[in-house]
Formats: sequence, structure tokens, C-alpha cells
Amino acid sequence: MLQYSPELNVPLSSQFIIPKNSDIGATLREDKESSCTYLCGNSLGLLSERSKGLVLEELRIWGSHGVVGHFSHPLDRPWTKCCDEVHPLLAEVVGANEKEVVCMGTLTNNLHLMMDSFYKPTPERYKILCEAKAFPSDQYAFTSQAVAHGLDPETAIIQISPREGEYTLREEDILEILDKEGPTIALVIFSGIQYYTGQWFPMKSITKKAKEQGCVCGWDLAHAVGNVPLSLHDWDVDFAVWCTYKYLNSGPGGIAGLFVHENWHKTERPKFAGWWGHELATRFEMPPKFSPIAGAQGFQQSNPCVLAVASLLGSLQVVKEAGMMPALRERSLQLTNALESFLVKSKYFVPVDRVSYSTDFAKPGFTIITPTKPSARGAQLSLLFLPTGSGVMRKIFDALVREGVIGDEREPDVIRLAPTPLYNTLKDCEHAAESLERAFTTL
Ligand SMILES: *Cc1c(COP(=O)(O)O)cnc(C)c1O
Repeated sequence: MLQYSPELNVPLSSQFIIPKNSDIGATLREDKESSCTYLCGNSLGLLSERSKGLVLEELRIWGSHGVVGHFSHPLDRPWTKCCDEVHPLLAEVVGANEKEVVCMGTLTNNLHLMMDSFYKPTPERYKILCEAKAFPSDQYAFTSQAVAHGLDPETAIIQISPREGEYTLREEDILEILDKEGPTIALVIFSGIQYYTGQWFPMKSITKKAKEQGCVCGWDLAHAVGNVPLSLHDWDVDFAVWCTYKYLNSGPGGIAGLFVHENWHKTERPKFAGWWGHELATRFEMPPKFSPIAGAQGFQQSNPCVLAVASLLGSLQVVKEAGMMPALRERSLQLTNALESFLVKSKYFVPVDRVSYSTDFAKPGFTIITPTKPSARGAQLSLLFLPTGSGVMRKIFDALVREGVIGDEREPDVIRLAPTPLYNTLKDCEHAAESLERAFTTL
């Protein structure tokens, strides 16, 4: 019998605004005004009271001060320096020093910027190594970068797929490809956590092997940042990019971030300069010659959206007060393990190894394709519905919404459920599992 600590029913922060059953179409719920069971922080994190307050303040000051707010701000957050409070917190979240991180732009934009600096194919070393079925935006970026260098993506991009009958990648298979093909690979770029399967790749060992082979190693941390503890500096990662609207709750389309390792700060200067990357001391004198800030912040191009930065800052402050990543991870492990333990008790659950080696699933059911080892996953569990391609997933998903459970569907057969440690509780996990059980009876 698993023992759960009572604190798991107390959100670490009561500061989040959780959508209500009545607003999300939970028609089967009588408690219309109660919070829904929101297990979708992997896709869009929720609004914190803190973020809301900070954004409203900036709106008010924009109204009262106009352009004056850039330099003289009644709350001492002049917009020219609006990222000053964000950078140290962001650095702590990803395990970096402050000069190595910057809050800027959007994820795919930043990925292109970083690839432009760090993907430098030569006739001998020109390949990109990545996971098969990476998030589409990343695939498009890799392909278009290869094409921009005059390469054929078919030969320039190596995509690693799981073994036959398996859903996630094995560490030894990734390392073996690096051993074999290392000298032809210019760039190794994986997602920290795979968006579809929820697999947390062994970032440290992949980075180490990539570097031993003379490759540059970058990471897309969209699903990892704010979800699992990271040590980008110590792992010797060359660069990383991320968005902040998933586990970092900055709001839809929020401002993104990137990391450039200190090792590169002397040699890798921003190629596509913009005024916001120019040293603050002389930025507003508008000198004709670009003189970048040393480190990641020199890559900034435009002045950032203050509202977006304020929203991110609010969430980061909540993360900090909750004890930062070590505390969040501890709670996250408990919540995700609890959700898993409720789900595997279902009479519709099929262990993943049974699904892999057999195709005769006539009756509706589900398996979990996320690794069972906690060190190989973050908050999210990916449920694969059976029989695959039968439309069961869609029906279950709709039934879950009627029960007030918001997960996230990936056609054709997967629903992702992510108890996020900042605002989810053990009750959320229990309710999701019970609702799933009832959903099967409606098929
Ligand atoms: C969420 C996500 C994106 C989204 O990209 P944007 O540029 O923020 O629209 C890209 N890649 C991955 C891996 C993601 O998880």
C-alpha cells in the first residue's frame, strides 16, 4: 500500500486561477463553480495570481506614464531593464549562470537563431542527429536549416526511432549511433523531454558522448523547463532553447528563453545583431557600431514585450517561493507516481510490453507509453488507447471533458495527462483515474 503525504492535497501555491467546470464544458459535473481537474500544464500552464497582478500593474503604468515608464517606473521596474529580475530566476531553473541565459523571442525563432550559430556543417561533418517524430516545428526547423546549407535533409538528418515494438528510445541505442557516426555529425539536438511519449532523455550522458565525438550538443527544453531539474552548465550543454508557457506558466505565446554555455561566450558572437543585444551602458546613445553584451544576452534583437515578461516573472516568483526545482521535482515524483498507480489498477489497463508484441486488441483499453522509471520521465504520462486507430481515444477524451478532466489529445490515439506540482493535487489524480474508468463504460 502506497503512503501519500497529506500535503499532496494542498497545492503548493493556492495562487493559481484554475478554470471552472462550467467554463470548460464539464456537463456531467454538478459542482459547476468548482475548479476543474486541469492536467494540461504540459501544453499551457495556468495563470497565477502573481502574474495577473504584475501584468495589471504594467498595464496601469503604461496608462499613467506612457513612454516615461521605460526609464522612470513608479514600482522601480523600468521597462528597459524588465528582464533583470527574470534572468537570475531563469538561470536557477535551468542550472546555469546568469550570463548564460536570456529571456527573449519565441521557441522556434530561438531554435533557428541558435542553429544558425551552432550548426556549421563541413563536407566531413554535416549531419544533424535527432529523435524521430520530434515536435513538428523542430522537424521543420532542422529540415529548413539543412536546406539553407545546400544539403539534402534525407542524408543530412539522422532520426533515431525506437526499436520495433517499443515506444521510447534506449540510451544505449542513442550512444551507439554517436559512437558509430560521431565524426560525421555536426549537431546533436534532442528534446529534453519528448512531447509525445513524455520520455526524459538521459541528457547528461548524451551531451557527454556528443562532445567526446566532437559534435555540438543542443537541447529543446520546451517540455523540460520547469518540469525537471536541469544542470545545463555542469552538463556542458552547448546551447538550449525553450518556451515558457508550458510548465513555466507565462501565458499563451509567452516570451521564450535560450542558453549559451560560457565556453562559447568569447568565440560565438551574435551573427544577427539587434539593438537589444547591445551593451546597456551605451544602448540608448545609439552608437553606429554594435557592441554585444557578453554571453547569451547579446543574442537579443528587439526590446521584449513587457507584459509577457511580467507574466513570466510572476510565475518564476511562485516557483522560487515553492522551493525551486528540487522541491517541485519531489512533489512531481509523488503526484505522477500516484497517478500511475491509480491508472494501472484500472480493468482497462494493459501493460505496455503486452501491447508491443501483440496486435489482437479487440476490446477498448489503454496502456502507458511513458517510461515507468521515474528518472526517465517528468510530470506527464502518455496514455495510448486501444485498439489503435479505432477512435476510442476521441470518445474517451470527450467523456473526460464532460467529467471536468482536461488532458491533452494527440491524434490518433494518445491522451497526455500531466499533474503539475505547482497546482495539481492527489485528488486531481484520483478524479482523473475514476473519470477514465467511467468513460470506458460510455463507449
Ligand atoms: C511546444 C513546443 C514547440 C512550440 O514552438 P513555438 O515556437 O513556441 O510555437 C516547439 N517545439 C517543442 C518541442 C514543443 O514542445
